[in-house]
Amino acid sequence: MFPWLIDTHCHFDPEDEASKLLKDAHECAVRVIAVGGNEVNNQTAMQSGAPFAWGYDWSCAGCAVTLTRLPGMIAVGELGFDFHRGYSPEAEQGQREHFARQAAFARCEALPVIIHTREADEVTVSALHEADLPKAGVIHSFTGDCALARRLLDLGYFISFSGIVTFRNADLLRETAKYVPMDRLLIETDAPYLAPVPMRGKRNRPAYVRHTADFLAALRGMTLETFAQQTLENTRHCFGADAVGG
Ligand SMILES: [Zn+2]
Repeated sequence: MFPWLIDTHCHFDPEDEASKLLKDAHECAVRVIAVGGNEVNNQTAMQSGAPFAWGYDWSCAGCAVTLTRLPGMIAVGELGFDFHRGYSPEAEQGQREHFARQAAFARCEALPVIIHTREADEVTVSALHEADLPKAGVIHSFTGDCALARRLLDLGYFISFSGIVTFRNADLLRETAKYVPMDRLLIETDAPYLAPVPMRGKRNRPAYVRHTADFLAALRGMTLETFAQQTLENTRHCFGADAVGG
């Protein structure tokens, strides 16, 4: 039997059969955290039956959003900052307000947050610093260098690696993946996107987290057993016992 792994970040589309994907994951000894980020993904995450996160990402900045503590909810997210489509002070302000409302909720409910950041390093670090959340959380599908990882680790966040770390042109990210302390590292698919090598180009699914785990264990010179045990333990520290099935 394989050691159990956990995909700490996947999304279900309405056309996905979440129950089938979860069954497939369990058969490959993979547990799942289903993640929201907009109205549709929040609903599919909640209905999947897996431990789930509910939140509103940068694309929902300016929308009226409702945050309620729901049974099975283990985190707020994903939320965060993204200036891939262009930076402006107004966009920054809008995203910061949107972030602050959800951070206040996370604080109130003592929940960790799942953070998305893209082309927004400085704003993300400064907003997380200001929010000073007691539970912190995770920076998901991390793509930054060691210096950025250091700043986020110092704020108490875990760093999660997706299939991107297996891509051919990701040498810099592999340096970061060797640098992050083993007790602060998580793994994820970010399915349905970003399928790891050798599945690159296919529609990603939680079971494929195994490829990323194999890759990272080898990169760090560890057995898969040790790697799996440690990342499961990290997930428990980050999200609580309910996230890993007790
Ligand atoms: Zn995501």
